[in-house]
Parts: sequence; structure tokens; C-alpha cells
Amino acid sequence: MSTSIEESSPVLPSLAERLGAATAGPVHAPGDGGFDLSVASFNTATAHRPAAVLVASSAADVAAAVGTAAAAGLSIAVQATGHGAAATGPGSILINTRLLDSIVIDPHARTATVGAGVRWQQVLDAASPHGLAALCGSATEVGVVGYTLGGGIGPVARTHGFAADHVIEIEVVTADGQLRRVSETSEPDLFWALRGGGAAFGIVTQITFRLFPIQTVYAGGMFFDFLDAPRVLHGWRDWVHRIPESVSSSVAVVNFPPLPVLPEALRGRTVLHLRYAHVSETEDGEELLAPLRALAEPIIDTVTEIMYADVGSIHADPTDPMPGAERSMLLRRLPAEAIDEFLATVGPAGGLPLVLAEIRAMGGALARGAEVPNAVAGRDAAFSLFAVGVLAPPIADVVPGALDSVLSAMEPWGTGGALMNFAGGADGAPADRVRAAWGPQERRRLSEIRDRFDPNGLFAAAARW
Ligand SMILES: Cc1cc2nc3c(=O)[nH]c(=O)nc-3n(C[C@H](O)[C@H](O)[C@H](O)COP(=O)(O)OP(=O)(O)OC[C@H]3O[C@@H](n4cnc5c(N)ncnc54)[C@H](O)[C@@H]3O)c2cc1C
Repeated sequence: MSTSIEESSPVLPSLAERLGAATAGPVHAPGDGGFDLSVASFNTATAHRPAAVLVASSAADVAAAVGTAAAAGLSIAVQATGHGAAATGPGSILINTRLLDSIVIDPHARTATVGAGVRWQQVLDAASPHGLAALCGSATEVGVVGYTLGGGIGPVARTHGFAADHVIEIEVVTADGQLRRVSETSEPDLFWALRGGGAAFGIVTQITFRLFPIQTVYAGGMFFDFLDAPRVLHGWRDWVHRIPESVSSSVAVVNFPPLPVLPEALRGRTVLHLRYAHVSETEDGEELLAPLRALAEPIIDTVTEIMYADVGSIHADPTDPMPGAERSMLLRRLPAEAIDEFLATVGPAGGLPLVLAEIRAMGGALARGAEVPNAVAGRDAAFSLFAVGVLAPPIADVVPGALDSVLSAMEPWGTGGALMNFAGGADGAPADRVRAAWGPQERRRLSEIRDRFDPNGLFAAAARW
């Protein structure tokens, strides 16, 4: 039974009281001491203000919270880290999964089974001593479950595909309060939908996925002065169409703030950041990168042999919470005119208040699909574009429009869709692009499965489409 709310508040809100009576993890209501901490998100632009938050300590807690929400006519949302959160209001209960932190590595089967509160860096660190690697994203403080349900495209994605392609089993609480073990053979429709269809179908309590025998990668980033960006980016475009599947790469125009924590060479500058990762024992990663190294002199070049557990250093994404707004789109192709348009729009001449605008090369294993088919969309795209701005004064009001103008500029080459994980939502960006990434048949199948497992829309607030 929860006690924290009783300790901190003599007047018990009845919902929190009921939730506390049904569960073992801490329950907090607005105004009680633990509330703000338990609803805080990495993306500080997301303000969760649920009627109550449960820090779930077990799958049984999650099931009880779902039952409590359903009985009270409330919706239910879930947060692990808040890297991709959409705000919840007083009509919902929020489940914080941080206590569901178990990690079991099976080195013989080459699998990991982790609780819903686990972040990628924890899996990397647990798998590395066995010479095994997990398909995390660029930022390793992101949560495993939220990332994987949205597909999950990481620094070695062209070699091994989406994280969702390698899921073996999911333990999930559905809207009827049942805890289900979902796999290729058990509830196959739900298994298909959860892997790429996001959080619309239930609350995942545990997930099992494949690991890969990778100890080291030849990987890192090269930062170029923006004056060199046209030459490097056009060169990258030519090169990226010829690379083998063992190479994954992306490029980003980054506006670094003048902060003392940053390397002096990058502080306050607009640069082109070229990211590179090579996974293979037979090819030479340095040789494959050589044509790009010859294009211009980088300000900083970090590409070298690294432990896979340090894969987060390739993109070097921010690790401190910030109020971000994001937009994304999938690109069918990237002709030379698209590169010129991209640089003119997101470079200094465009004058847009952006933190970053990146293009990731897709193709390779991403295009092939999973052994057990899943709902991941966008496999037909050649590139994914992603832009981020900070929703802070004095630019907060203009950032959403600036992000929209990046998408408008690149629309001629867009597929109309976007990867779910990059679509954003903190500033209320529409989910149309997420929906558009699926074909009509997949959209229909997803809606049918959602109607079947969540007929009253209990999880509607968490769904991104
Ligand atoms: C700095 C940064 C870098 C990123 N890099 C990448 C990248 O390289 N590749 C990529 O694909 N994505 C990337 N993302 C996007 C990220 O994968 C998504 O935002 C993802 O949803 C975050 O999951 P989370 O659990 O950490 O965040 P949360 O905000 O806690 O959760 C995000 C959403 O996932 C759902 N969710 C979380 N836990 C559960 C659960 N137990 N059951 C059901 N639903 C759940 C919820 O709907 C929630 O709203 C990045 C995001 C950031 C901020």
C-alpha cells in the first residue's frame, strides 16, 4: 500500500486514496511533495498535470491503475523519461515506470528482458561485458520501451534495422486490466501493432529483444565550419548512395549556444555535424569514411574505434532536460536541389531559431522489414529529416512556425509521412504525418486492433496518431 500521499497530505483526494489502496508503489496528487518530481519530463515543455501519478512498482500496480482509471472514467498515460511525452491533464492518471528497472541479459540466447523504466545506457552497460549490443537510439538516456514502440532508429540502424524489428516478447496491460504476454504466437495482432504503432494499445511492463554480437564500432562525428557545409553535404549525398549496409550516417546543421560547457571550437557557432558508424569485421571503416575526410578540414573529428557501449557519443545529444519542440518528415529522395534548399533554410541565411536540423540516411536493413512483420512505417523512405527548436523566451512563440517552415521548404521531396519517434508533440504538432506514413491497409488494421483492445479510448491521450 502506498504511504507517501498519506505522509504528505492530511486531506486525501479520493482518487489518489483509491489508487493508493489498490497499488504498492508511491501515489502522488497535485500539491503533494513528490508530485512534481514524478511528473517531470526530460522535455520540460511537456507539463503533465494528471489527477494523480502512480510510480508503479510492479505489473500488478499497472493493472490496478488501469482498473482505477477505467472505473473513474479517466484516461491513462505513461512516462518513463519524458523524452517524447505529450502532456496529460486532470482527466487522466499518469503512470511513472521508473521503478520497473529490472534487466536480465541472456548471453546464450543473446536477448535482453527489461522493465518499462529502463533506459538504453543501462542495457548497453549490462550487455557490453558479454560482447553484446542493443539497438539503442542516438541518445542513450531515452527509455527502451517508448523508443521501441515507436520503431526506434539508431546509430547502426542501416545495418540492423529498427529496434522494433528485433522484439521477441512484450508484457503489456491492456484496457481491460489484463496482463498479457504478447509474441509472434500469442496475440499476434497486438504484437504486430505494438511494434511500431506506439502507445495506443496498452501499458508495457516488460520487453524482450534480441542483442547483437558487437563489441566495438568505428564511429563518431566530424564537425565542419558552416562555410564548408555545401561541399561536405553535397559530397555526403553522393557518398551515401554508395555505402554498404555496414555503414550508417547522418548529417546535422547545429547552432551551438555560447555555453562554457561546450568545446571552445564549437561555442556559439553554426556547424555541420556529420555522424558515422561502421559495423563489420571484414570491411575497413576508416577506408569507407576516407572520401568524406578528404572533402574539408573538420574543426573536430571524433571518429575512431569505440566501445559499442559508448555509442551515445556519436551524436552527443543533450543530456540535460530542455523545453524542445520537434518536427519531422520522411524524404523520398535527396537530389542536389534538396541539399541547396536545406542549407538555405536551416543555415544562417535562413535566420530560423533552430537548435538542430538533421538528415539521417535510411535504406539498408531499415527498408527490408522485420522477420516477424510489424507496424513500423516509413520503410520506403530514403532519408528522415528532423528539426528541433527550444521553446524558451524570447523565441518560444516563433519556434513552432520556424519548424513548420523547414518542413514546407523540404515538402517537394517528402513522402508525406514521418517516423513516429521524431514527429514531436510537445507543442501540439499534429499527428497527421505519423498517420500518413502507413498505407491505408495498415492504418485500418491498426485502428481495428486499437478498437478491439481499447474500445473506450483509455490510452487515447498517449497515442501519437
Ligand atoms: C535527445 C533525443 C534523442 C532521440 N534520439 C532518437 C533516435 O535516435 N531514434 C529514435 O527512434 N528516437 C529518438 N528519440 C525519440 C524517442 O525515441 C521518443 O521520444 C521516445 O518515445 C522516448 O521514449 P521515452 O520512454 O524515453 O520517453 P517518454 O516521454 O517517457 O515516453 C514517450 C512515449 O512513449 C510511450 N511509453 C513510454 N513508456 C511506455 C510504456 N511502458 N508502455 C506504453 N507506452 C509507453 C508513452 O506514450 C509516452 O508518451 C530521441 C528523443 C530525444 C529527446
